[in-house]
Amino acid sequence: MEIIRTIGWMKEKTREARQEHRIIGLVPTMGALHAGHLALVDRAKKECCPVYASIFLNPTQFGAHEDLSKYPRPLEADVEKLTTARVDALFLPSAEEMYPHDFSTYVHVEGISERLEGKSRPGHFRGVATVVLKLFEIVQPHRAYFGRKDAQQVRIIQKMARDLNLEVELVICPTVREADGLALSSRNAYLNPEERRAATALYRALKAAEMDLSAGVVDTLELQRAMRKELDAEPLARVDYAEIVDAEKFEPVIRVARPSYALLAVRIGTTRLIDNMLIEPKDGGFVVEL
Ligand code: AMP
Repeated sequence: MEIIRTIGWMKEKTREARQEHRIIGLVPTMGALHAGHLALVDRAKKECCPVYASIFLNPTQFGAHEDLSKYPRPLEADVEKLTTARVDALFLPSAEEMYPHDFSTYVHVEGISERLEGKSRPGHFRGVATVVLKLFEIVQPHRAYFGRKDAQQVRIIQKMARDLNLEVELVICPTVREADGLALSSRNAYLNPEERRAATALYRALKAAEMDLSAGVVDTLELQRAMRKELDAEPLARVDYAEIVDAEKFEPVIRVARPSYALLAVRIGTTRLIDNMLIEPKDGGFVVEL
């Protein structure tokens, strides 16, 4: 697998592929790769050739007091995983390459970027939207692959793509989980064994909401209460938010009547984890994607 460190070189590769009328797939990541990332690669491999992955630990999406400096960076293992997954090239730019010293242009998707994750992590989505647009411009993919695990991020990128008339097709893939339901995340590496056990509270909370939904509960306060009850029962868990919102604008809803998300952000010890469940009304009941 080729490793590409400069924007100029990446653009040249992509120009060649486009001239050959090939379908370019992009899987953007921050590295510390796990089976969730590799599921995106597998899907891209089925639909595109070439498939490019990027690893870029984007400083603009981390707050001053967040975990940028201690974020895991197992580059050698990542390269091996991407090579095994037959990724055609890895785009691995430095922070200086992506953000030269006089960089001053940012993308801000208004409204949705201020809620939930955006409220807890001010500026986070500005950094995400900016880097994703830059990656789209550099790699010029026909298709780009994102995980449902970061549901609000996905919605913001979809909104940006529509508002700015981007050509790229966004492909959203289901959340990959451990056997006990914990969503795979690079941040799971921070959990000690006791915290790792406690972290299943997020999945249990979503399952509790699912159970209430299947019993006919549509009142979101009641569904939120069911999630809180599971989370409050876990001594190591501190809830940041546990909410039900509509799946388009991520605004609170009184009852579930259209596509919605149950969204969780929970601290387990010092590690902040997020998870979600997509809820879609169907045939008088609901189908959920966890
Ligand atoms: P990250 O490296 O955390 O920025 O994630 C890169 C991409 O992988 C994003 O589109 C994430 O939504 C996706 N992703 C992360 N964890 C998972 C997971 N457990 N299942 C599926 N996709 C995931």
